[in-house]
Amino acid sequence: MDFRLTPRQAQLKADARALTDFIAAYENRCEEDNGLPASAHAEIRDAVLDAGLQAVNMPAEWGGAGLTIAEQVTVQEELGRLTGALWDMVWRPANALRFCTPEQRERFLVPVIRGERRDCYAVTERGAGSDPQNIATTATKNDRGWVLNGEKWFVTVGDHADFMIVLAAAGPERAPTLFLVDKDTPGIEMTRVPRFMHTFVYEHPEFTFSDVQVDEDAVLGGIGEGYDITRSWFTEERLMIAARTTGAAERALELSRDWAVEREQFGAPIATYQLVQGMLADCAVDIAVNRAYTHQVAWEVDQAGAEDRKTLHAKASIAKLAASEASGRVIDRCLQIHGGRGYDRAYAVERLYRELRVDRIWEGTSEIQRLIIANELIKRGPGVLDLPVAR
Ligand SMILES: Cc1cc2nc3c(=O)[nH]c(=O)nc-3n(C[C@H](O)[C@H](O)[C@H](O)COP(=O)(O)OP(=O)(O)OC[C@H]3O[C@@H](n4cnc5c(N)ncnc54)[C@H](O)[C@@H]3O)c2cc1C
Repeated sequence: MDFRLTPRQAQLKADARALTDFIAAYENRCEEDNGLPASAHAEIRDAVLDAGLQAVNMPAEWGGAGLTIAEQVTVQEELGRLTGALWDMVWRPANALRFCTPEQRERFLVPVIRGERRDCYAVTERGAGSDPQNIATTATKNDRGWVLNGEKWFVTVGDHADFMIVLAAAGPERAPTLFLVDKDTPGIEMTRVPRFMHTFVYEHPEFTFSDVQVDEDAVLGGIGEGYDITRSWFTEERLMIAARTTGAAERALELSRDWAVEREQFGAPIATYQLVQGMLADCAVDIAVNRAYTHQVAWEVDQAGAEDRKTLHAKASIAKLAASEASGRVIDRCLQIHGGRGYDRAYAVERLYRELRVDRIWEGTSEIQRLIIANELIKRGPGVLDLPVAR
């Protein structure tokens, strides 16, 4: 077994850290102004392109960085240190866009990879969250293509994106289907921008679709393929959440360790008190075990054949569930170590405390991850716990 980062991974880690440090200079502004001005978006976009970390999940032949899953995990761990969700400014197009036809790719995906356009993914609705099969948005065929009607909730980057990937029930058979929809198409209205707990550089608006006419070629990946396409990328997306939350937790621990060593009460640094030491140690345990497991599963995904997909899907759920919940524990302790300062928005631990909470909700809640893991155990036995065997 060789657990070392490859030289390429080590270089990517250094590059991602340098980019993260550059972007971190914008954190306080993002917190104070609830977002960043267009000039800052342009500066960060240039820095991402200079670092070569645009579209890390897309092949180099299309202009992406073309990284393996293990390499992407290495990058996301560094970006996860950022508050204000500034990690999301290092764009990673929706994997579903790999299903574009060559024409769709030129129109939608390639400009996203270059940083000229931005996508967002609209699945959730009032009555369809954990259960996307319950969507009410419809696509009705007419002689010009399809007409969309319905509403979508919590569309991350919906304010900034210029096109949407929309899941709708198509035709009388209600076939779940993804549509590529330019946001300025008549009939699309941004109806509400919820104020969520975190500060996020983009918003998560709600949209209504009233008789939105799209062409025949707006269908992404085929009629009826919507759930399968969305689901097929959960393994990767959940591993990226595991990586980012681990990186965030590590930053919080570093800050808390430094604070504990520096801060004196009762005539000595608080790091000398064993109750504080216990919190630091528990944070280190949470981070170390989750980092190892996330890298293990990412490596497995890179090696895997099609037959392993279901088990890897469950392993990615273990990684997402474990890392997102562990980072919640870590940030709670780190805030505590900072005392009253930990409750001040000027401190990164306070921002991370609010921001890490959503990782237990989106891309499948913690309960949904548990259902996936239990289902795997019941259907295929405890093989999900095994290390891979060399062939
Ligand atoms: C900040 C933010 C950004 C988001 N961005 C996007 C986006 O870009 N695009 C998008 O489409 N969606 C997005 N979402 C939506 C997100 O994916 C959903 O919120 C999530 O899937 C949960 O759905 P829900 O909120 O409707 O909760 P519900 O599904 O109503 O769940 C409520 C509670 O019930 C539990 N529950 C539900 N079913 C079961 C079950 N079978 N067994 C046990 N417990 C269960 C859940 O775990 C949860 O605790 C975003 C959400 C947030 C908060």
